[in-house]
Amino acid sequence: MSVPTALLVITAALSAMMLAIVWSLRRCGLPGVPDWCNANLAVTMALPLFALRGQISDMLSVVAANAALAWALAMFYAGCVRFCGGQPRWGRLAVGALATMAVVVTWRYVYDVFTTRVAAVSAFNTVLCVLTGITLIRKRPRGRAGSYHLTTAAFALFFATGHAARGLLSAFSLMGDPYSLQSLGLNALFLTLGALVMPALSMGAVLMIHDTMVRRLEDIANTDGLTGVMSRKAWEDMGGREIARAAHGHPPLALVIVDIDRFKAVNDTYGHAAGDAVLKGFAGLAAAQIRATDGVGRLGGEEFAVLLPATRMADALRLAERIRTGAEQHCVQIGDHGAAVRYTISGGIACLRPGESLAQLSARADAALYRAKLEGRNRIVAHDDRQPGAGTSTPVREALPA
Ligand code: GH3
Ligand code: MG
Ligand code: MG
Repeated sequence: MSVPTALLVITAALSAMMLAIVWSLRRCGLPGVPDWCNANLAVTMALPLFALRGQISDMLSVVAANAALAWALAMFYAGCVRFCGGQPRWGRLAVGALATMAVVVTWRYVYDVFTTRVAAVSAFNTVLCVLTGITLIRKRPRGRAGSYHLTTAAFALFFATGHAARGLLSAFSLMGDPYSLQSLGLNALFLTLGALVMPALSMGAVLMIHDTMVRRLEDIANTDGLTGVMSRKAWEDMGGREIARAAHGHPPLALVIVDIDRFKAVNDTYGHAAGDAVLKGFAGLAAAQIRATDGVGRLGGEEFAVLLPATRMADALRLAERIRTGAEQHCVQIGDHGAAVRYTISGGIACLRPGESLAQLSARADAALYRAKLEGRNRIVAHDDRQPGAGTSTPVREALPA
């Protein structure tokens, strides 16, 4: 077996393996993955046809093989467009592919010039690789999450350079018969590069799929499904980080724990769905009041916690009062013509003491919340540092009837 034939066989095998890997990820439901499967399938079918050049008709080993390879890259590009949230322009891709194939057929059956055929196919592949690279760079997620898009884009642009170089060398007749699988040198170099295109791009695609899935799972784990604020776990993680930061010279840190008053009565009177609507409404209200550096999480049921880094008691009290007043004035409409539900909240505040853990800080905020409930609800109570276990309440307000 000649070296080029061996390369084609190895690439076909690699593409089949990548096909199996990408295929196994179809269930994730991400857009673009089916296109990437099809791209690998097309390459897996095209390469054996190239390897059989001379033994089967040129219609298969030249025309069909080139068409399948060019269409494979077009599908890979379309997959990237879809993965990034766009819609591929199939019409333009089909026109490009058909024009390329028209050149291949004409310069095989009318003029039979190898170099023109290679130049045409290389030009089309170059454009597709450049478009793939540009799409991934422009549409990448911001920050660290975009690194796999950049990796795949780098592969695509590198291969675009290879395709362009091969096309130019062929157009200026600087290479030998590019279809002769026996000739080595430059042709072998380009064959080697060509052999890596789809496996490398597919590996980039797999990295992007994994990264997207991991981020989706993180989002699910870190977000409370009903209200959209932080889950308890994510909120506690943030609490741990902020307490460590406070211990390393970034005090103070305040914690507000709030609980919707007589929430059971909301459920009993208006139904569970109305209760859910109140929870969502209140979470949105609280999230709108805080700064980007603060964190609101749902601890469970109708209990929420707001972490306020770099905040002293007086400011925390002001913010908690704003949230309480907002809740008091909030009217949650149930359905289009349903009841309008009103509710109030009680809250407890504590500021971090030196050496204190999140659990200890939470226990003190909870104790203040307990006092707010005891004192009649619809109020904010600050945990009093001078009297452990005691609290100072904001002016008593008349609690709304349950
Ligand atoms: P208090 O003023 O003392 O806090 O009284 P409460 O009625 O708010 O407190 P209680 O602990 O007696 O009741 C809380 C209710 O919250 C009971 C539970 O069914 C309801 N609940 C917990 N989670 C959810 C939820 O996700 N959706 C709805 N609709 N209700 C929930
Ligand atoms: Mg309650
Ligand atoms: Mg409660």
